[in-house]
Amino acid sequence: MGETHFGFQTVDEREKAQRVRGVFDSVAPKYDLMNDLMSLGLHRAWKAYTVAVANLREGQQVLDIAGGTGDLARAFARKVGRSGTVVHTDINLAMLTTGRDRLLDEGIALPTVVCDGERLPFRDGRFDLVSVAFGLRNMTHKEQALAEMARVLKPGGRLLVLEFSKVAKPLEAAYDWYSFNVLPRLGQWVAGDADSYRYLAESIRMHPDQETLKAMMKAAGFGHVDVHNLTGGIVALHVGVRC
Ligand code: SAM
Repeated sequence: MGETHFGFQTVDEREKAQRVRGVFDSVAPKYDLMNDLMSLGLHRAWKAYTVAVANLREGQQVLDIAGGTGDLARAFARKVGRSGTVVHTDINLAMLTTGRDRLLDEGIALPTVVCDGERLPFRDGRFDLVSVAFGLRNMTHKEQALAEMARVLKPGGRLLVLEFSKVAKPLEAAYDWYSFNVLPRLGQWVAGDADSYRYLAESIRMHPDQETLKAMMKAAGFGHVDVHNLTGGIVALHVGVRC
């Protein structure tokens, strides 16, 4: 068993998965409120952009990995209609249950599966589109996860990775100040948990930047990868086409 990062700490690989689970067990009840507060609502625009780029049609087959409380799964379900399928998945039962209940309250019932993005329980070539929003950062073996995402896509299918990325230089100082001073305090105040939001800030710094992730996706079997920087690179949407 090797070592990996949990934020800025070096931990045993098995410990990382447990600690990530602890983070999302803790934040699940306040996750949506915290997303709105800490991004000043911007996460809605990043996700709307992702849905526009996905450009789904009626009848298409979609897998949302690390789908959490279901923002993307819900928007995708509206696009593919009754003849299509959106499978809403996450490794964390608390996050997935919160999302499933929220979608059911809105009259949307989706197939919901607890599963690890690194070991997907779906056959090869099952999906037209796979998405992972703010989830890849938390995975221990990112190359393995990307290979799994490629495996379950049809040839020509697309992977959309929406994730925090490397911010443009002029924004760096302000972004660092916000991340390490405001975020943990906001987490403490709203969710009673500063540590999980400290982990968020740290894990963003440890995540591969735009070019590195693009190269990783190419190595995993995506012949063409486009990178869309959003809000000065705070977030990037990587779109990979499966060879
Ligand atoms: N996609 C949702 C969104 O954009 O609002 C939720 C993102 S949330 C920041 C990250 C999610 O990744 C959590 O729900 C967590 O449980 C999930 N996650 C972490 N490690 C995972 C793994 N190995 N496989 C699948 N999901 C994972």
